[in-house]
Amino acid sequence: MTGRDLPAGLAAGSWLVRGARLIDTVAGSELHGDIYLCREGVFPGPGEEGAFEIDGSDLWVFPGLLDMHVHLRVPGPGRAETLESGLRCALAGGVTSLCMMPNTDPPLDSPDLVRSLLESCASLGYPGANVAACLTRGRRGAELTDLEELHQAGARAFTDDGDPLEDDSLFAEALERIGALDAVLMEHPEVRSISAGGCVNEGRAARLSGVGGIPCRSEIADVQRCLELVRAGGGRLHLTHLSCPESVEMVAGARAGGLPVSCDVTPHHIALDDSEIRRVGAMAKMNPPLRTAEQRERLARMTAAGLVDAVASDHAPHPDSSKRKPIAEASFGITGLETLLPVTLEVLGREMGLAASGVISLLTTGPARVLGLTLPGLLGDGGSRPAVLFDPGAGYTLERVGTFSRSRNTPFLDRPLTGRVKGVWIGRPAYLGGMFAT
Ligand SMILES: [Zn+2]
Repeated sequence: MTGRDLPAGLAAGSWLVRGARLIDTVAGSELHGDIYLCREGVFPGPGEEGAFEIDGSDLWVFPGLLDMHVHLRVPGPGRAETLESGLRCALAGGVTSLCMMPNTDPPLDSPDLVRSLLESCASLGYPGANVAACLTRGRRGAELTDLEELHQAGARAFTDDGDPLEDDSLFAEALERIGALDAVLMEHPEVRSISAGGCVNEGRAARLSGVGGIPCRSEIADVQRCLELVRAGGGRLHLTHLSCPESVEMVAGARAGGLPVSCDVTPHHIALDDSEIRRVGAMAKMNPPLRTAEQRERLARMTAAGLVDAVASDHAPHPDSSKRKPIAEASFGITGLETLLPVTLEVLGREMGLAASGVISLLTTGPARVLGLTLPGLLGDGGSRPAVLFDPGAGYTLERVGTFSRSRNTPFLDRPLTGRVKGVWIGRPAYLGGMFAT
């Protein structure tokens, strides 16, 4: 798209948002007023003349979101997602920083691959790309990668996500080396010998669907093992996409006891329960699986109560050919970048009563602490100060034609959602009302 084609708001050099609720989770402040976004930084309004004016009376403005668990499938064949489609999807969801998982094709286990992926994101003008590199070569679980060189190349975290690292001695060595780098080991908690052959939550969901079940104890047993390894040898550990309340309890207990451990949950695990499988079939198949209604509610309550460090989408696009299948044969995973904020806000805000700043913190400062990143606050000098304009009352439905992902595998398709990103500023206009500047 050339500059000439851009609508006024996207071609503008500055924006003036009038009368918005300004929620700065980085500075820990909240106020109501005008905000002026320009190349030199973001300042209280009115700023200079000539800015593109936006009525902010229904809007919240807050720092760009950080999604710490995203699969953009790059490098890869590009059928499920491309870097362009994935990053557009992120911007449309208000996500201006993200951490890409390494279970790609080929896996991100070499410094060159990490460097080249980060360079590609920068060349597309995306401001906040981060990489989690493989823990083991080829994600085969047998030999650690060159962790120090990968860190040098820009890797922020290390994981074999999609698989746990089950070898205790490798795990302990990785914890020690990653700890020395002041980086974080991110474990996908699962015990393969327990979950083998499972597709959905063990119990009623598995029985009614006639497929194998994945019990909570698969996740809990691995969380317990990992916590013991940290207790024995130190190192920073993050347990990702926890689905069982007991797992969160264990991590919170260990953290309270002084261990350097953290965890995240996904919007779908706090919003949906395993009855969803009956409604949308494989569109609700993911690993770990959706749990029971009672577990879902407890997980959401614990997240709202501050026992969880971050909410992350686990955006996992798959083409229709991998998802529109009987449950047992379909791939695990759902897309989530665009629904990350509305779904999280629905559950933690409207259902659990958490303040907007608390919800947004779980999508900004919380994950930033885990990854050791410093996010800029909403107001101040410096052009690279991503901000999101969000209409919390906007009701809409995410439709097949309306999503920016190349894939359509989400149980939130065709469901009413409340709250929509209206604009994204990344030191320049990036997104406004469904259109992109890049
Ligand atoms: Zn995973």
